[in-house]
Amino acid sequence: MANLAVYAVSSMNSRGRVIFEDLPAGRSEFQRDRDRIIHSSAFRRLEYKTQVFVNHEGDLFRTRLTHSLEVAQIGRSIARSLHLNEDLVEAISLAHDLGHTPFGHAGQDALNGCMKDYGGFEHNLQSLRVVDVLEERYAAFNGLNLCYETREGILKHVAKKNIEKLGELGIRFTQHKRPSLEAQLANFSDEIAYNNHDIDDGLRSGLISLHQLNEVSIFSRHLAQVKLRHPLIPERRMIYETIRSMINTLATDLIQQSLINIQAAQVDSLDAVHAAPPLIGFSERINQEQQQLKKFLYDNLYRHYRVMRMNSKARHTIEKLFSAFSTEIRLLPSEYQIKYTQEGYQVIADYIAGMTDRYAIKEYQRLFTITEN
Ligand code: MG
Repeated sequence: MANLAVYAVSSMNSRGRVIFEDLPAGRSEFQRDRDRIIHSSAFRRLEYKTQVFVNHEGDLFRTRLTHSLEVAQIGRSIARSLHLNEDLVEAISLAHDLGHTPFGHAGQDALNGCMKDYGGFEHNLQSLRVVDVLEERYAAFNGLNLCYETREGILKHVAKKNIEKLGELGIRFTQHKRPSLEAQLANFSDEIAYNNHDIDDGLRSGLISLHQLNEVSIFSRHLAQVKLRHPLIPERRMIYETIRSMINTLATDLIQQSLINIQAAQVDSLDAVHAAPPLIGFSERINQEQQQLKKFLYDNLYRHYRVMRMNSKARHTIEKLFSAFSTEIRLLPSEYQIKYTQEGYQVIADYIAGMTDRYAIKEYQRLFTITEN
């Protein structure tokens, strides 16, 4: 890739793949990773998994698929400005939610609770499991055999008890080393994407109002600018314009502040990035505003009674499925029963985590409802 900074990840300084493969023709190693992620079945299932709003609530709300595409889009454009590896940021962004359960965070919390005596359940560890083990499409290996740096980027954080299982990937957590700038960037792109699209979806659903959002400084500041420039603009466009300029402000701030951090730390190689403190970040002002926005969304959207009711149903569904399978393994599809003999309850977690929202709802009906036909 042309014009990469000395501190970027490249095919030259990559640690490569667990199983050696010939160099790809006509594309970079990280383009190959991205392509493999897009062709995976876990990626296609993201279309029917909840972000905040359960899939059947409306066609216009974000799903995990559209969320992942937005993260990749924001990440790529910031990566280009910082001369980082765009293909790697794109691959990490597209893969970051592959391990998510149905029903968003409520589903993940419920499955974690069910698995607490068997190692727990963490969605980003599960995303890694999808690309390392669960996808079955290649003749020579399980999983997608992705480059080290893509896998490192997927694994944002991990509980202490799970570090040992990770081998080479776990070392940076014990040594307190930082992941690549591309991984750090994908993480911030995730945050920029979900904060902004949750405002949009929250307003569209009617669960939060423009009036309430006025107490959030980053929103009210941008809204006032839009109103000043376009006094007669219809409300829906006004919201889009406000969100658009917020994303622009956040991306620009992230680029400027990260460049300041990179220069101050004088990093001149990928190794220097690993040893330095986190370098991708917002300015202090934007940081504070982001905290305020997150708190607002938490209090008013994620804790809204209608979201809480959906979460409660999601928890009930996941717990009942887990309890049925763990009590009677023969309820699992045959291929999972075979794996169960080697891997135990992890296989139940894999099966449930792989479900889309609607598949989980159907599976619940198949297990607990007797119908005439
Ligand atoms: Mg995400």
